[in-house]
Amino acid sequence: MLNLQKGIIYGPVHSRRLGTSLGLNILGSRTKVCSFDCVYCQYGWTGEWENESKDIHLPEPDEVKQALTKRLSEIDYEPDFITFSGNGEATLHPRFSEIVDKVIEVRDKFSPSSKTAILSNSSEVYKKEVKQALQKLDEIIMKLDAGNAGVFSYYNQPRKYVDLDIITEELADMKNIIIQTLFCTGTSGNFTDDNIAKWFERIKKIKPSFVQLYSLDRGYPSESIGQVSMEELEKIKLMLEKENIKSSVY
Ligand code: SF4
Repeated sequence: MLNLQKGIIYGPVHSRRLGTSLGLNILGSRTKVCSFDCVYCQYGWTGEWENESKDIHLPEPDEVKQALTKRLSEIDYEPDFITFSGNGEATLHPRFSEIVDKVIEVRDKFSPSSKTAILSNSSEVYKKEVKQALQKLDEIIMKLDAGNAGVFSYYNQPRKYVDLDIITEELADMKNIIIQTLFCTGTSGNFTDDNIAKWFERIKKIKPSFVQLYSLDRGYPSESIGQVSMEELEKIKLMLEKENIKSSVY
């Protein structure tokens, strides 16, 4: 599994999805800060960060601005993306929207050809301020792995009450979003006929601009999940194509 990121800026990371991407970790380096506890999380299980929150230093918007300015002035190229990702769910940062504004300001000044992006688990989209800030980013990549509440509860294991129907409604209300879905087999997996059918109904409601389909790659904490083959993921892609929804298998 991956170690937690140590600073605010990490990488660049090279990936098929985002090319050369400079990562932004706005959640500190002490522990994973996430509203989910996905069975496949590359950072391992989510700890009791809610009880430790007084001891967790989350960087101020100006600290993020300074760190990004410094890194962009050190490198001699413009990365394809500047991406909010890192040690958990970035939208949990209480000053997320201010940080988005600062990051866009720095990008415009020092790396105007870079796009801004986020990998989010969608848990906070019900908050108006978060949704508005997300819409300012160039690539808004939002997680949707579950079609029904049961799978959502054992696969993503939300740490607080989050309603899958509300997430679906809020995502449907957003513009130009990309859905990312990670499928797994196994007793704790989401690759069942029932879940796929219900997930597909939600995707049709959301009408994303693109769907990213993938399965396990790096290490993961649960022993009751397994990898879905590329052939099986291609079948999902065909299903989406019939509804004129663009997608790719990674
Ligand atoms: S939402 Fe992302 S960071 Fe959080 S537990 Fe799931 S995979 Fe890990």
